[in-house]
Amino acid sequence: MARPIGIPVFAAAVAVRHEIAPAPLSTRRLRIQMRGHESLQAALGRAGLDASQSLAAATALSNDFDTVNPHPGLPLELDVAEPSRSAAAPQLLALSLWPTQDIRLSLWRRAGDAFEVRRAEAPVFTAPAAIDGVVEGSFYLSLVGAGVDANTAFRVAGAFGRKLDLSRDIESGDRFRLVFEQRRDADGRVLGWGDPIYAQLTTRSGEARLYGVAGAAGSPVELVDGQNPGRPALLRTPVVDARITSGFGPRMHPILGFTRMHQGVDFAAPLGSPVLAAADGVVEEARWSGGYGRWLKIRHAAGLETGYAHLSAWAPGVGPGGAVRQGQVVGFVGATGMATGPHLHFEVFQQNRRVDPKLLYSSIAQTPGPTDRDAFRAMRSRIDAIVEAIGAARAVA
Ligand SMILES: [Zn+2]
Repeated sequence: MARPIGIPVFAAAVAVRHEIAPAPLSTRRLRIQMRGHESLQAALGRAGLDASQSLAAATALSNDFDTVNPHPGLPLELDVAEPSRSAAAPQLLALSLWPTQDIRLSLWRRAGDAFEVRRAEAPVFTAPAAIDGVVEGSFYLSLVGAGVDANTAFRVAGAFGRKLDLSRDIESGDRFRLVFEQRRDADGRVLGWGDPIYAQLTTRSGEARLYGVAGAAGSPVELVDGQNPGRPALLRTPVVDARITSGFGPRMHPILGFTRMHQGVDFAAPLGSPVLAAADGVVEEARWSGGYGRWLKIRHAAGLETGYAHLSAWAPGVGPGGAVRQGQVVGFVGATGMATGPHLHFEVFQQNRRVDPKLLYSSIAQTPGPTDRDAFRAMRSRIDAIVEAIGAARAVA
């Protein structure tokens, strides 16, 4: 699907005469987006159409795309006639949607209240566009607040979490920039955002730059560190939206009230924040474990294991014997067992002994990054050039 940026793809020019219902007095254009777990019919109802119109429109489109489980975020554009009497619902005149980035489906009301559907290849322009923002409290929520969709924000926070301890290395006031391929139609309407191709975070200790690398066939683009594209053996931040930590070592226990060895690292995070597998592995334990509350333990390669305590829940399908991937959501932050508030207590075991994960990050091997380093460097400079061009355009604007 690689296309030159900014080149119109194809506009179908099929001349069809439509017998359109008489123009009403007052029409209005509505734009909404499909929500998760929402049928087209339900979305049309949310837009104010009555049940019979919603059903008729969804039925008319059902041969051309999945109206029961449309993709969340799918944009819909409706032309409606304002109701002539106060009690009547608005009347749907036309509906456009883009089930894939280059297909436009249109529906018209014909005389006699029947709907007609037309499918056309839509001209799509793609161009890189940036989202800039400032971290305010939680990095993840700051991304969402800046207009990044939740799923992408989750991926970006996770990608930085491989390199940085998000609870220590990021502060309020730090700045981020994300660059995406943005898809627009001929009228300049944003049809959607593609994968992030670049993410930059400027903190007090410097600048971290991540670059989008195409994964294996069918797998999504992965953001990797521009300096060190290999994947670390362990995630530094195994929770999305972490804030404060208590490190490994002796400390006053907040509940027991006496000093004892803290055998792990605490990441404070809002209740329900996703907890991520720190590395590929197999689930060893997913059970209640006294003061640890809901507990999860994963076995990894090279005699390493990781443990996750005080979970509010395990992720669906995560149980003993199951394989997990690095970065996969395996549970959710809670305060079960002996905990003063929601946090993740994270432990790392090496040859069955608890160790300070900080000491491991430098000593254990990375998984190899892209095998073709020259291709990676070429891709990196291409993206750097795009980012620079966006920065220059902003400076002028
Ligand atoms: Zn702890």
